[in-house]
Amino acid sequence: MKTHKKNQISGHPKELSIYIHIPFCEIICPYCDFNKYSKVDDLIPDFVQSIIKEIERNSKEFTDSKIVSISFGGGTPSYLSNKDLTEIFTSLKNNFHIDKKFEFSIEVNPVDVNRSILEIYEKLGINRVSVGGQSFDDNILKKLGRNHDSIILKKSLDLLSTSFLNNINLDLIFGVPGQTLTQWEESIKIFLDYSFPHLSTYLLTFEPKTKFFSDLNLKKIIEPKENEIIEMFNMTIKLLKNKYNQYEISNWARPGSESIHNLRYWNSNNYLGFGPGASSLINGKRTKNISSLKKYIYLSKSIDNQDKLYSEIATITEEERMIEYIMLKLRMQIGINHSDFEKKFSKVFDSKFKNLLNLLNTNLLIDSNLKNTSLTNKGKLVSDYIFTKFAEEINL
Ligand code: SF4
Repeated sequence: MKTHKKNQISGHPKELSIYIHIPFCEIICPYCDFNKYSKVDDLIPDFVQSIIKEIERNSKEFTDSKIVSISFGGGTPSYLSNKDLTEIFTSLKNNFHIDKKFEFSIEVNPVDVNRSILEIYEKLGINRVSVGGQSFDDNILKKLGRNHDSIILKKSLDLLSTSFLNNINLDLIFGVPGQTLTQWEESIKIFLDYSFPHLSTYLLTFEPKTKFFSDLNLKKIIEPKENEIIEMFNMTIKLLKNKYNQYEISNWARPGSESIHNLRYWNSNNYLGFGPGASSLINGKRTKNISSLKKYIYLSKSIDNQDKLYSEIATITEEERMIEYIMLKLRMQIGINHSDFEKKFSKVFDSKFKNLLNLLNTNLLIDSNLKNTSLTNKGKLVSDYIFTKFAEEINL
């Protein structure tokens, strides 16, 4: 990305989403590369005040905008006390114009789910909860370094399923070292018994700077074989395809229960991100807050100009916009609508990528006709390779 000084935003977006990054976790999972901290609870009060300052500072620019979705992610947002959560949301409510029908989602750790937290969620208007369950198998949960076992997970899901909430998501991870196909199948089947409307199935990746990454290099753990991953992926499709819609590579929903907030990210709609390391996208300009929690707290409380909080300010070039568009659309079931592509980039999709489309078609990686291109199930398994191929063509 080319970085340069932020320009004045031209025109305020009519619709806007807000992401709040809560970077606290009880313990650090060995596979996680998010911006998170544990054992720094003494910083939470200052953090809450810094987020509120950031909300207040930004709201002045967006008085005409309507907030259509709010998402609290992390980290572990459910780690915050009810009082802190209420304080942050009250600030959002007082400073932004929130649409009556907005999606309000929060990520929760199973250990935090209890009646008191659900009462507060209901009071605040939270209408979507995403549970970081990861697996129903105790050996896998132990390997993942989670702070809950399957009993705690099931208890939390039981409580949620009898609560006021209809829109519940569960996160499950596959491709964990040593995970068997049967263990994965079992986890999905238990999810199906709960009959929740949404499931996210993530393939574990070994990210630099994580414990899993160094364990892999030290040969303490072994990466699953490609054919094992393929079997798990195919098993997921087999078990879910008649009941849920795979509207994005990792996301399954019953019709009408797709995540509005995530769809807005994937459609490159405008959003503001608050908190350390949070990104924003406003009219094609991307900014990223500094990641360090301590620096974030210090700066956010003392500055009057939001620019000073950014570690990156970037305008996306035409090529980057095209790569991002293709990548995001191909991740989604709807794929690339060729006339939409032409409207956005003044280029004919099937002419521009003629040779690549032929190659991917021949290898059964895409479904492509004159109007639309999407990934086949085989293509979804090698989506990163396909995105790289498109990026190479664009950058030629
Ligand atoms: S709880 Fe979530 S955010 Fe926190 S360390 Fe584990 S995976 Fe990362």
